[in-house]
Amino acid sequence: MASPNASVTPASAQSRRPFFYDVTLRDGNQALRQPWNLEEKERVFAQLLKLGVQGIEIGFAGASDMDFAACEYLAKKAPDDVVISSLARAVPRDIERAWEAVKHAPNPRIHTFITTSMHNMEHVLRMPPEEVKRRAVDSVALIRKLMGGRGSIQFSAEHFGDCGDNMDFVIDVFRSVIEAGATVINLPNTVERYRPQLFVDLVAKVVAALPRHVTIAVHTHNDLGMATATTVESYFAGATQLECALNGLGERAGNTNIYEVACALHNCGENVPLHLDAIYESALLVSEWAQVPLYEKAPLVGLDVVAHRSGIHQDGAAKTKGLEKGAYRAINGSLIGRKESDRLAFTSQSGKSAVFEIVRDLGLPITMEEAATLQPRLKTLSESNGKGELSDADIVMAYEKEILQVSGPLEFRDLSMSSHEEEFFFDIGWRGEAMKISGAGTGPIDACMKAVEKLGLYFHLVGYRQIALNVDRAEFAADAVTEIKIQKRAGKDEPASGPVILGRGMDTDTIKANVRALFNGMNLLLRGEKT
Ligand SMILES: [Zn+2]
Repeated sequence: MASPNASVTPASAQSRRPFFYDVTLRDGNQALRQPWNLEEKERVFAQLLKLGVQGIEIGFAGASDMDFAACEYLAKKAPDDVVISSLARAVPRDIERAWEAVKHAPNPRIHTFITTSMHNMEHVLRMPPEEVKRRAVDSVALIRKLMGGRGSIQFSAEHFGDCGDNMDFVIDVFRSVIEAGATVINLPNTVERYRPQLFVDLVAKVVAALPRHVTIAVHTHNDLGMATATTVESYFAGATQLECALNGLGERAGNTNIYEVACALHNCGENVPLHLDAIYESALLVSEWAQVPLYEKAPLVGLDVVAHRSGIHQDGAAKTKGLEKGAYRAINGSLIGRKESDRLAFTSQSGKSAVFEIVRDLGLPITMEEAATLQPRLKTLSESNGKGELSDADIVMAYEKEILQVSGPLEFRDLSMSSHEEEFFFDIGWRGEAMKISGAGTGPIDACMKAVEKLGLYFHLVGYRQIALNVDRAEFAADAVTEIKIQKRAGKDEPASGPVILGRGMDTDTIKANVRALFNGMNLLLRGEKT
């Protein structure tokens, strides 16, 4: 596949696709404070199907009657194309219960395991290695007998990550269980103790030692926070089945997070067989169902991970907002079904491009120049009242004050007009004094500009337009904004000169919106002048 990132995909991965095997209902569920009931498990199961995983470990049928009932129920609901598996210790009773439950699925699997690390064989299982090997082979043989020609058999060497010093033994066990019928060999990093590369080296050794028709799986835990890295790199070392959990649920620091693995592989140009756009929704739902809050900094799905707060980052994010590759984001939000990709939050470190983006995202019209005017006011607000990050309401209030009610010598109060609209009368404030002025013209703006000439103020209208307001904010009882551009003239017959200023006006009455825009523009031009 031609991909922009093909160069980061080793040749070993190019002919394969990852097989996502989810363990949320087993490893994830067993680690919940309040394990799920049947109805809750069914919801999670449905969400896994929506996400499109290829295999689901639906539970540990031998653990209790309740677990058995749930496994049997879900196995009966399973679609044809998804592998449905139950965990079973390498003991006949567990294996028989597992088969009783999963035999209803169109594509059943039994996943049996036994520890193969020296430490655990000696201190936990208290069994010599030869006995462990015999138990493993006998278990797989029993499964093959029970399943007949159906389904698949998965064997896990528990604590594989600790087996660096007895790999010859472990590979010997693998070869023997394959001979007995196992088709999937799972390599768990049951407890993450070391660095990813040491685990990946062990994976590569197993891949090289076993026949090609055997599927190699990895199942990693996140004790040191590197489970995603370990799983992703194991894939490139030859492991095809990736065992993950929704939201990274699981014992202790959890299992490998399926969202992170999927997006990392996607970014590497791999063909990831999941509906990635169901990720964000899954994360939010599972967090509720598991009653495990999403950390706000959780990669991809955390509430805060789309926020940019420093000026440099905001500038880069704003400039690359519409591009596939953003300056400061790993993915586009839409990839995982998330509306936002880059959210700019105003803090005292934010610059004018952040103001521009934030205000525009609030649905209000703004230019970069207006953003530059607004920025120091927002910065002062953020610093002065210890607020830090400003809320949308703070920003809207400052926008109103700075842009829609520009203070200055002129103040618009009200207007009326003659019956045929040829003359307009304005109630205004001029340097704090109430007065009435009037003017005749081709419309309210023209009439108003004529009227203020009586105060010795001369302007030239450069442009005018009304824009629809793309916002539904309680603060604004208006659906249109007038935008005018004006320039100063030194006297009645003098040409326009100096800067062109943009004034905005907002009102429920269109004529008033026009006049307000003009007053705001005039005040901006008169600002700092002795009038
Ligand atoms: Zn596990």
